[in-house]
Formats: sequence, C-alpha cells, structure tokens
Amino acid sequence: ASRLAAEIVRPIAFSGESIAVRATIGIALHPYHAGSAAELFTNADVALYVGKRGGAGRAVVFKPAMRHVTEERVAVCASIRRSLERDEILPFYQPKICLATNRVTGLEALVRRRHPEFGVQPPAAFAIAFQNTEIAGRLGERMLDLCLRDMADWAEQGVAFGQVALNLSEAEFRRPDLVEVLLDRIARFDLAPAQLGVEVTETVLLGREGDAVGARLQELHRAGISIALDDFGTGYASLTHLRQFPVDTLKIDRSFIQSIEEDAASRAIALAVVTLGHTLGMDIVAEGVETPGQADLLAEAGCDVGQGYLFAKPMPATRVPHFIRTWGREDGAPESGRR
Ligand code: C2E
Ligand code: CA
Ligand code: CA
Ligand code: CA
Repeated sequence: ASRLAAEIVRPIAFSGESIAVRATIGIALHPYHAGSAAELFTNADVALYVGKRGGAGRAVVFKPAMRHVTEERVAVCASIRRSLERDEILPFYQPKICLATNRVTGLEALVRRRHPEFGVQPPAAFAIAFQNTEIAGRLGERMLDLCLRDMADWAEQGVAFGQVALNLSEAEFRRPDLVEVLLDRIARFDLAPAQLGVEVTETVLLGREGDAVGARLQELHRAGISIALDDFGTGYASLTHLRQFPVDTLKIDRSFIQSIEEDAASRAIALAVVTLGHTLGMDIVAEGVETPGQADLLAEAGCDVGQGYLFAKPMPATRVPHFIRTWGREDGAPESGRR
C-alpha cells in the first residue's frame, strides 16, 4: 500500500508542467478488522480519516484503537443535531470588496454554532459532522433559510447588500431536488435568483459525485444563480474543468494571497489566475487579504474583488446594515476600514 501511495504521489507531466498529486489510502482487512462488508468500509474510512489528519500522501491501516474517531463523529453529530433543534446554528457574513471602487459587492455566508458553553464556534469545531450526509444536508438547509431571511430583512431596510454566497458541501449536491428547493425558497422570500451565489470547492467538483455536481451546477447556472469555484489553486482542477463547468467566479485560495508579497511564485500564480479567469469571462476574488500591500498587488494584477480581515472579519447579520451603510465613508468609517 505504501508503494501504491508513493506511485500515486509521483508528479504527473501535464502540458509541459509537472503536477504534484497527493493520495491518502485507508485500509481495513477482512477478516481481521470487520465481519461485514459495511463495517469493513466504515473502518477503512476511519483509517482514511486518521491518515488525512496526519497529512496526505500516506497509507494507513485500521487499528481498533481508531474507533475513537467513529465515536467522536457520533458525538459531534449528536451535538449538532441538538444545536439544530435549539436554534444554535447561525450564519456570519464576510463582505467582498471591489478592489477598483472600494464598494461592497456582496457577502459570503459562513456557518457558526452558538455553543451553550464555548460561545460562537467556527466550522472547524464541528467539521467532522459535514461527513455525515444527513447532518450536512440539514445544516445546509438551515443556512439557506437563515440567509434568505436575513437578506429579506436587509432588503426591507433598504440595505444594498449585493449578492450573498452560500458554501455548498458535497452532500447537498446529492439531493436531486437541490435547485428546485433553492428556487422555491428564494421565491418564497420575494428575492431574485441573481441575489444568491454558491461557492463550491474543487474537491466537491471533482469528487465521487462529480457528475451529479456538474448537472446541478448547470441547473443553478441556468436559473441565474452564480457559481464560484472556491479555494482555487489548492486542488487539481484543470483548465478543462473550467470549460466543462459553468463557473462565473474564481476564488484564489488564501495560501497564495498570504505569501504574495514575499514570494514571486505566489504572485505569478495569482497573476496567471487573473489572466486566465478574465480570458474565460470570469470574475476573480482573492480570499484572505490581510494587508494593504496584498490588496495593492492584487488590484495592480487586475483582481476584481478582495475579501479578508483587512476589510472585515465575518460578522453577525445584525452588524451588516451598519457595515454596508458606513463602509468607505469618510465619517463613520468602521474600525476595520481602510482608506
Ligand atoms: P472558505 O469557504 O474558504 O471560507 C474562508 C474562511 O477563511 C472562513 O473561515 C473565513 O472566516 C476565513 N477568513 C476570511 N478572511 C480571512 C483572513 O483574512 N485571514 C484568515 N486567516 N482567515 C480568513 P471559516 O468561517 O472558519 O470557514 C472555514 C471553512 O468552512 C470555509 O472555508 C468553508 O469551506 C467551510 N464552511 C463555512 N461555512 C459553511 C457552510 O455554511 N456550508 C459548508 N458546506 N461549508 C462551510
Ligand atoms: Ca467559501
Ligand atoms: Ca475559500
Ligand atoms: Ca480557503
């Protein structure tokens, strides 16, 4: 298995460039690790999860001691179920800023959980629950409803919030009625499809459910909901995929933005993404912009939109109207405001 992992990890030559792929392998053996096929797959999955946590590129054999991972998943899922029942799931919103005009173009919705003991938690605190199709679906549906309600509220207050983008997980694309549900809710809140966007990672796009994801994206696109490819540059999406899927926006991953000031290679990659995206008629968003230097470099490169702590951290819905009304104004500019 280690040899297999090493073989997969060997760089692949593609269009004259060398592409590094990584693989993690989870192994469970019959009859040592499980009696039934279902249990065997679960245990191989557990080994895979443990392997991924230790950094990709390894083969990991299941050990009974790993059962704590299954137990952890069960416990986190149970606690998220409770949170769903107790209304402890809520969206935070992070603004997106046009680098040329300094205007707010929209917001990204990011899930949070108000933990009764630990306070507001980011998704990293309960990420393992997203592996459960049922929980991921319920979280997604709750986020959709809460976001649409917030959007309808803001619209009523005359807040020009632009577009709100939701992050969709692989599980949500498994629903054949995803687009129907989205459109139905949007209409029920008296909003337009163009006011909603979705963000999908390369991993979801090219994962096990790739075909279903592609079909759903086409439907979303046709319905007027815009599609952003998230964390671009970290996975293995190629130019072919960009042509194959109806992508409106590319989001350059934070890892490139972080080092854009010191590292010429990161700068070159960001510039190449901007050029490529624009050639294909896409908008480019840089995520994780933290310094004025990064914002200036990105603006110079022609990047359309920036998002990051430099402009604003994710905030609760109640703070959005004030943020949008005062952003960029010389008088009541928010604390985090630049310029
Ligand atoms: P993402 O979609 O790449 O979201 C960007 C993450 O970077 C967010 O973390 C955001 O708070 C953080 N961030 C934004 N600006 C900066 C910055 O300047 N510096 C740094 N260091 N970080 C910054 P968050 O909210 O913890 O979300 C993490 C990930 O969880 C998201 O990554 C997304 O993949 C996933 N996620 C969040 N909300 C949802 C959701 O409702 N549904 C699904 N399926 N996934 C979600
Ligand atoms: Ca995102
Ligand atoms: Ca992202
Ligand atoms: Ca990211």
